[in-house]
Amino acid sequence: MSQHILTAVAWPYANGPRHIGHVSGFGVPSDVFSRYQRMAGNKVLMVSGTDEHGTPIQVQADKEGLSARDLADRYNRIIAEDLTALGLSYDLFTRTSTRNHYAIAQEIFLGLYNNGYVFPKTTLGAVSPSTGRTLPDRYIEGTCPICGYDGARGDQCDNCGNQLDPVDLINPRSRINGETPKFIETEHFMLDLPAFTEVLGTYLQGKQGEWRPNVLKFALNLLGDLQPRAITRDLDWGVPIPLDGWRDRSDKRLYVWFDAVIGYLSASIEWARRSGDPDAWRAWWQNPDARGYYFMGKDNIVFHAEIWPALLFGYNGEGARGGTPGSLGRLEVPSEVVSSEFLTMEGRKFSSSRSVVIYVRDFLERYSADALRYYISVAGPENQDTDFTWSEFVNRNNGELVAAWGNLVNRSISMAAKNFGEIPAAVDLTDADRALLARSRTAFASVGAELARSRFKNAVNEAFDVVRDANKYLAEQEPWKIKDDPSRQGSILHVALQVVDDAKTLLTPFLPTSSNKIFDMLGGEGVWSGMPQISEVDEDGGPSYPIISGAYDGAATWEHRPIRSGTRLAPPTPLFTKLDPKIIDEELTRLADPAN
Ligand SMILES: [Zn+2]
Repeated sequence: MSQHILTAVAWPYANGPRHIGHVSGFGVPSDVFSRYQRMAGNKVLMVSGTDEHGTPIQVQADKEGLSARDLADRYNRIIAEDLTALGLSYDLFTRTSTRNHYAIAQEIFLGLYNNGYVFPKTTLGAVSPSTGRTLPDRYIEGTCPICGYDGARGDQCDNCGNQLDPVDLINPRSRINGETPKFIETEHFMLDLPAFTEVLGTYLQGKQGEWRPNVLKFALNLLGDLQPRAITRDLDWGVPIPLDGWRDRSDKRLYVWFDAVIGYLSASIEWARRSGDPDAWRAWWQNPDARGYYFMGKDNIVFHAEIWPALLFGYNGEGARGGTPGSLGRLEVPSEVVSSEFLTMEGRKFSSSRSVVIYVRDFLERYSADALRYYISVAGPENQDTDFTWSEFVNRNNGELVAAWGNLVNRSISMAAKNFGEIPAAVDLTDADRALLARSRTAFASVGAELARSRFKNAVNEAFDVVRDANKYLAEQEPWKIKDDPSRQGSILHVALQVVDDAKTLLTPFLPTSSNKIFDMLGGEGVWSGMPQISEVDEDGGPSYPIISGAYDGAATWEHRPIRSGTRLAPPTPLFTKLDPKIIDEELTRLADPAN
């Protein structure tokens, strides 16, 4: 039965280009999942965009002498291009600075406000005396009042681990320019998170056995101490507060985390409008049979497992204060929060400032998208923190993609092309032939079950077991040694090509580009698995911006398809590039010295 599946992918922050640690957390896993779900016959809506508000954008813009909007424009475009190059099949990748997003974020705020889950509060806020701008907690540092450590941040002391308030710091100073902040009274709106303790508890308890245990445990632990949380900020860059007396103020905006999580909904609504059916989004958001999967790195669990469900419960009127759904109607909460752990780089944390980094764009200039997608799938931070090393990247590329998979495809097709010019017929199958054919056929159920539960490592390893068994079969059958029995040689090659075709299907979610090539080489017609593209759009004649979208309803389905004997075969072209081990040293040198 076909199901509606929402793939909600974490929104990359538009203050710089994204590195491979970012895309290993939210990007590749969500695309592998979505491609599988489409092949399994489900109706997938995969949405995201760039997260463009907040102080870090403003600070970076100041540093580069740009407006916040100019900076967001620049990195929105770079990020959209990089994610497209990686083959991520968004139905819509948009941005949070659209008028549509502003309207939906304001609607959610109003729904919460009208149901009594948002209240005003006067707090002490830090302000920069020289610019008059608010200094967020993490942009203030000073001496920790608890342990005396001198580098404590306004929100936390990294030395003793205690949560802090910037007012408590001894000798507070701005991390931007070193000046002493001024503390002034300022009014803000707070989300009454404690009013959702009970409904969140019931919701999370219902996810036992379904979510990754670390995600659920983390979310349940937070429940014991939910505090009201500010959802507005002293800032001039962001979504205005939709209340009389606030709407036109230039110094108050919705807090960036609040508007960003609403992006999943606003992007779905934008997608529906662009598809020509403005109500189409409701099939994913207001359908109790639909499933919503949220993909992110672990630093984002609190927003997706706790705060976003609370916002939706509040909008629906389902918290402790009751209420009624807002004008959009009742909205479904996430079915599953799929969080990855962290990727490190050669034993160190990714850091742009210390150039412990490789950006997606630089990576894809030197290596293929499928090589990176494969590495992330087989060796990424799926359920524990994981270290990226260049030597493992080269080993896996050369040993697994090139020697095992690429070589199986290459020698099967080239031998059949050379000796028969077409896919030869299979006659008088032996037990060994039948065993291998059964092997790849039964893999669809087992690999599919792993993919449906976001167990990508297991899934790609099981698909590669089929590849390894096929290589073993060819080594045992030695079709290249058969000189006087074309019928037997043809049968062996037919079996090998059938298993190549099956394995190509099993690997499509991970390796869409090379799978499309194999589909063509084996005589496939039309598009196998659609690839994303960028187009320029605007809102009612306003400035244009790039979006990612695509037609993904290709021929690819999650099933064994018999190959047709007699299909013409041309000599194959290589699928993957063998890497010279000397690139390991080159890349390590680049890491040490960013000028290289
Ligand atoms: Zn401390």
